[in-house]
Amino acid sequence: MTNRADTERRKSARQMFGVTVPKSGQFDTILYLVRQTTGADVVQIHIDGMPPEPVPAGLQCLQVPLVHQGQNFGMLRAFAREFASGAAHLLAGFAVLVAEQHALWSVAQLDMLTGAMTRRAFTADLGNAVAMWSRNGTPCSLVTFDLDHFKVINDTYGHAAGDLVLRTVANMVRSELRPADRLGRLGGEEFGVLVPADAATALDIAERLRSVIEATVLREHPQIAFTSSFGVATCGEAGETRDALMAMSDARLYEAKTRGRNRVVGAPGLAVDIELS
Ligand code: GH3
Ligand code: MG
Ligand code: MG
Repeated sequence: MTNRADTERRKSARQMFGVTVPKSGQFDTILYLVRQTTGADVVQIHIDGMPPEPVPAGLQCLQVPLVHQGQNFGMLRAFAREFASGAAHLLAGFAVLVAEQHALWSVAQLDMLTGAMTRRAFTADLGNAVAMWSRNGTPCSLVTFDLDHFKVINDTYGHAAGDLVLRTVANMVRSELRPADRLGRLGGEEFGVLVPADAATALDIAERLRSVIEATVLREHPQIAFTSSFGVATCGEAGETRDALMAMSDARLYEAKTRGRNRVVGAPGLAVDIELS
């Protein structure tokens, strides 16, 4: 990934996972109230990192920034042929509501330390992806990974350094993913990546993540080396439920551990099995 478009895409993916992408329907009540009270024909909530919505032609526009803890993270926009009186004032009030609701949503969905999705949010998305696969065949793979000998990092360098490793790994992985992919923290130092991809592609992604993590150096602690072990499972080979997919990915992750760590194990016959020095 070298060209500018790729760099921009990666930046945007980072923002989407970092601050969050609201679920569709999340703000329906507020959007309804804005329309009712301001006379707006069209109302848009734009969160940084999301693709912009088309601007309706021939209408006046009012817009208010969305701000959380002093940070501008998006825009509330209303479009109308004619606004009700006091519309600008009302819109400013609604922008505060949107920002508060978005912050609450983030707390519920995102792990505080790493910004990855919580296990609950991640497994809910995984369930939806498995349902999409059984309905219309949309490919769906689960990559799980667990940091190797992480306890030793904590014991040697302290818990704060361990936390920094977890945050850094999550950031590195996010920067490698696409907007449709999902990163979740499944437990202490175990993560899941949901990708709409077939088994071979998911294996390539896992191998890329493995090598990115292995190559990462912490500016604050350049002496800490860390690696991860990976398991990959794909809908169609793992039964037809979310739990079956998770169990298969988990079993392969632990196979990667027992085979020496810092490696990826996928479906038999597809396994990346690079000999490590
Ligand atoms: P393996 O390669 O077999 O996975 O070995 P491991 O040491 O990574 O696995 P183990 O399960 O023995 O230890 C995991 C450690 O992760 C122990 C736990 O204290 C630590 N851990 C879990 N959550 C956090 C966290 O949020 N921050 C830090 N710093 N450490 C954590
Ligand atoms: Mg571990
Ligand atoms: Mg673990």
